[in-house]
Amino acid sequence: MDLNRVSAFVCDPGLGDWREGDAWLAGGTWLFSEPQSGTRRLLDLTTLDWPALVTRDDGLEIAATCTIAELYGWRGPAGWTVEPLIRQCCESFLASFKIWNEATVGGNLCNALPAGPMISLTAALDGTCLIQGPSGERQVKAADFVVGDNQHVLEPGEWLRSIHLPATALTGRTAFRRQSLNTYGRSAVLLIGRTMDDRRHLSITAAVKHPVQIEFSGSASAGEVRDAVLEAVPENLWHDDVHGLPAWRKHLTLTYAEEIRQELAQ
Ligand SMILES: Cc1cc2nc3c(=O)[nH]c(=O)nc-3n(C[C@H](O)[C@H](O)[C@H](O)COP(=O)(O)OP(=O)(O)OC[C@H]3O[C@@H](n4cnc5c(N)ncnc54)[C@H](O)[C@@H]3O)c2cc1C
Repeated sequence: MDLNRVSAFVCDPGLGDWREGDAWLAGGTWLFSEPQSGTRRLLDLTTLDWPALVTRDDGLEIAATCTIAELYGWRGPAGWTVEPLIRQCCESFLASFKIWNEATVGGNLCNALPAGPMISLTAALDGTCLIQGPSGERQVKAADFVVGDNQHVLEPGEWLRSIHLPATALTGRTAFRRQSLNTYGRSAVLLIGRTMDDRRHLSITAAVKHPVQIEFSGSASAGEVRDAVLEAVPENLWHDDVHGLPAWRKHLTLTYAEEIRQELAQ
C-alpha cells in the first residue's frame, strides 16, 4: 500500500533524531499493510546492518532486524535443543513468501499482536529485550514487553535493538501446542512448555492479550496445573476477536496445558 502521508524516508537513522510522526521501519509487512495516517517519516532500521544472529556461550542474541527466514535457518551448537521449537514458532505465522522473507523478529514483538509467534518464542525461552533510545539503554523481559493487544512498553523514540535468549533456556525439552480457527488462520492459542531440571515452565500466548507464564513442579497433578492456569489468567485477559471466542481459547488453553504437563512428565 502507498503511504501517501509519508514525506521522508530516513536511512541510517541517528540517535535522538525522533520527531512526532516518525515510525521505525523494519520489514514493513505490517506498516505497508494499512493506512498510517499519523506517520510522516519512516526511519529504516534495516540499514543499520545489525548482525542477525550471534551465537555465544551464554546464549543466542537475535537482532530486532533478523528476519523470520534467517531465524528459521539458524543452527545451534550441539546440546542446544531449541531448533525444532524455533521452527514451529516461525511456521506459526500466517505468512506468505513476502512476510517470511521480510518480516523481522523485532517487528513482530513491536507489533504486539497476541498472535505474534516471536513473542511466544522469546517469552517462553526466557528472553531479555535490549531497548535503546534517546535516554540510554534498558532491559525488559520478553514476557513483559507486550502489555496488551497492540501495546508494548516502548516509549516514543525508543527502539528494540535485540533479544537475548540465555543458554540455560536453550537446552531443555520443549512441548508446543497451537490452534487456529482454520488451517491457515492466525494463532488463537499458542502454548509452549519447557523443562528446567525438575521444574516446568509454561508460557501461554495468543489466547491471552499478553503473555502469561506459570511454573510448576515435574510431579504436579492435572488439577494443580489447571488451578495455576486459572489463577494466572483473569477472565478479562482472554483475548476476544474474529480469530476466536474467549471461552474457546480458555478451553483449549486448559486442554493443552494438561497435554504439555503429561508430555513433559514422560
Ligand atoms: C497477510 C499478513 C499476515 C500476517 N500474519 C501475522 C501473524 O500470523 N502473526 C503476527 O503476529 N503478525 C502477522 N502479521 C503482521 C506482521 O506482518 C508481523 O507482525 C511482522 O512480524 C511485523 O514485522 P515487520 O518487520 O514487517 O514490522 P514492520 O511492519 O516494519 O513494523 C511493525 C511495527 O513495529 C514497529 N517496529 C518495527 N521494528 C521495530 C523496532 N526494532 N523497534 C521499535 N519499533 C519497531 C514499526 O514502527 C511498526 O509500528 C501479518 C501481516 C500480514 C500483512
